[in-house]
Amino acid sequence: MSIFSPTFRVDRFTRLTPERLRAHGIKGIVTDLDDTLAPRNVYLPDGEVSAWIKALTDAGIKICIVSNNHEKRTSDFASPLSVPFFFEAKKPLKGGVLRALQAMGLTANETLLLGDQLFTDMVVARRCGMTSVLVDPVGTYGGWFVQFKRKLETPLRKKIEYNEF
Ligand SMILES: [Mg+2]
Repeated sequence: MSIFSPTFRVDRFTRLTPERLRAHGIKGIVTDLDDTLAPRNVYLPDGEVSAWIKALTDAGIKICIVSNNHEKRTSDFASPLSVPFFFEAKKPLKGGVLRALQAMGLTANETLLLGDQLFTDMVVARRCGMTSVLVDPVGTYGGWFVQFKRKLETPLRKKIEYNEF
């Protein structure tokens, strides 16, 4: 186990159903945006994302988007979903995630963090004492920095087993 290790690894965000979340005692999700909910070049949520968010909120589960991307990208995506969001979060720094917990009125141990990157998402979850769920990136497009991080991640990612949430 290292600081990069997620608590769970699944293929897609849709694995996090209200039933499974309740079984794990999870009342809220802090989720990454780019390559977790949509490829970074897709500007609006699709029907699957909308349906997933609706199922969660109908079940009383809170959700908040915390992205390292800029305001316009985060806001354009989050606004149609009517979920709170924080942009330029600087994950793996804790600030954005802690603000999200505060906005949801939940503690770290009743919240999980969902994301696709080991060095930002999984690290910040561990630093905040949260359950973490690693998803496979949904997009292949990324700037040089994302490509660089993916290359560094590859050997670590290979060692992480999928485990049903
Ligand atoms: Mg991401």
